[in-house]
Amino acid sequence: MKRLTLIFAAAVIVSGCCNQTTDVMNTETDADGIPKISDFPTGESNDVYAQYFSGRSWVAPLTSNDELGVPVSNVTFEPGCRNNWHRHSGGQILIAVGGAGYYQERGKEAIRMEPGDVIEISPDIEHWHGAAPESWFSHLAIACNPQENENTWLEPVTDEEYDGVVNKTFQF
Ligand code: MN
Repeated sequence: MKRLTLIFAAAVIVSGCCNQTTDVMNTETDADGIPKISDFPTGESNDVYAQYFSGRSWVAPLTSNDELGVPVSNVTFEPGCRNNWHRHSGGQILIAVGGAGYYQERGKEAIRMEPGDVIEISPDIEHWHGAAPESWFSHLAIACNPQENENTWLEPVTDEEYDGVVNKTFQF
């Protein structure tokens, strides 16, 4: 009986510890202090697009063969980091792979993204994406119709806009 009680207690502790899937409980970090939140590489500091982001981000190209026509990258955002409002003339697909983040289309509710969630962004839809305030976030970014695609970068997502939508969001 005592042994059963112990097993039960252990199960409660284990299940309790794993409910917080959105928080980065794993403290394993790389040399730059970036937590390991997915099985994909973090890559390099996203300097090329830094001017269109609020906060720090990193990008790791996952594919290299242009003949295949579908470039895929892993993008990692520090907590609170998001990109400006923008649109892709060829569209974009996002696949969350680590931590927790948000996606919002202009005029709509923000959608919380957690690993396994897929967002399909139609051509020319204005939107932004980034981390949750309390969590690092990684998503795969798939560039659609890259031969014709053009990205148009717009204004930053202000703190007021961001705080407003991430506080009243719904689960995907
Ligand atoms: Mn986008």
